[in-house]
Amino acid sequence: MALGAEQRSFGEAVSPGAAETRTSRTAQQIVARVAELRSVHAAFAWFRAHARELEDLQLEVTAIPAPPWGEAARSHWLKTRFEALGLSDIHQDELGNVFGIRPGSDAKAPYFALSAHLDTVFPAETSIVVLREGSKLYGPGISDNGSGITALLAVAAALRESSIAHSASILFIGNVGEEGEGNLRGMRHIFEQSRWLESIGALAVLDGAGTDTIIAEGLGSRRYEVTVRGPGGHSWSDFGIPNPIVALARIIDRFSQTMVPSAPKTTFNIGIVQGGTSVNSIPQSATMRVDTRSASVEQLDRLERALREAVKEGSAVTGGRKKQDALTAAVQVIGDRPAADLPSDSHLLKVIRAVDAQLNNSSRVQRASTDANIPLSLGREAIAIGAGGSGGGAHTVNEWYDPAGRDLGLKRILLLTLSMCGVSEE
Ligand SMILES: [Zn+2]
Repeated sequence: MALGAEQRSFGEAVSPGAAETRTSRTAQQIVARVAELRSVHAAFAWFRAHARELEDLQLEVTAIPAPPWGEAARSHWLKTRFEALGLSDIHQDELGNVFGIRPGSDAKAPYFALSAHLDTVFPAETSIVVLREGSKLYGPGISDNGSGITALLAVAAALRESSIAHSASILFIGNVGEEGEGNLRGMRHIFEQSRWLESIGALAVLDGAGTDTIIAEGLGSRRYEVTVRGPGGHSWSDFGIPNPIVALARIIDRFSQTMVPSAPKTTFNIGIVQGGTSVNSIPQSATMRVDTRSASVEQLDRLERALREAVKEGSAVTGGRKKQDALTAAVQVIGDRPAADLPSDSHLLKVIRAVDAQLNNSSRVQRASTDANIPLSLGREAIAIGAGGSGGGAHTVNEWYDPAGRDLGLKRILLLTLSMCGVSEE
């Protein structure tokens, strides 16, 4: 965990016009200058004039199924959109991450990247029905992350239509594998490639609706599957053979007594327990899935040690009649999202706060687990922000999106992008 995270008040409000330091005044000046440009006003006007088209685009992308590990169709769709928008160097990598560049005047400057995850939580068999009803849009994934993908394309289109010249190049990314057991595999892969590791200076992740948060603190999580195995047998004739379910119960009992601090907030959950085949059989296996979360890597490490210790003690039984009756236990890591924070004096945080002050938008710094965890854990500047508008029912088939206020979200993303890249005088 980055030091200083505790001192920073969690959910600190950003009130426009609050006392500013000299450096944030500089960020404010940069943002104010960008906001004055005629071409930027033209881009803002483009957002308003194309509100209906953006809704159509959002319905279109949401209708393309993108289950975990099944994002290919949507990835291909995004690639063709990038081509239509005239981005350069468009390509897909072997996982299905899609890239397109809008070149700036300074070819040597690190890229400012905007990303939106392509995947949804919905399994392939989910029927995806999208519809417009009144002013709202409905469909599984319409907001998370139909709205983020739409914002990515809207910003690229508005930049093109208003011919804004910027200094650093903008890298647009549609990435796979953000949700659940996707375990941030898309973003992880991107930052494992030296090409991107060396060229991306800062990243803003566009995820879901809203304009009121700045996710600048990455919530770390680790997930485990624990399996206890034994020979199994008949409940009557093999009585005495060690029972994996009983051992798992002992493990759960021991592990759940682990003390966790409230600051940094650290949690654990046993979410799934499975085992056994019939009431009169000694089971051959029992399994559980455990989720641990913390802002602190040390706390995640401590919980992992506690879990492994509980597994060792809870499964060490000598109740069997023969040596081969002993139980075996295995702990498998099924998810690992690193915890890391954006330093409070980072340029990216100053700029997004200055953008919010400029737009009279109030926002709060929050902690969450997003694609930004990966660059943050590598010491890169990254945040996750919403795409504007509002949404609800995330991760359910009743998900909705209300485009009212999308405008503000798009302006926010555009001002952030141009202020990070630098603009040429008109
Ligand atoms: Zn999302």
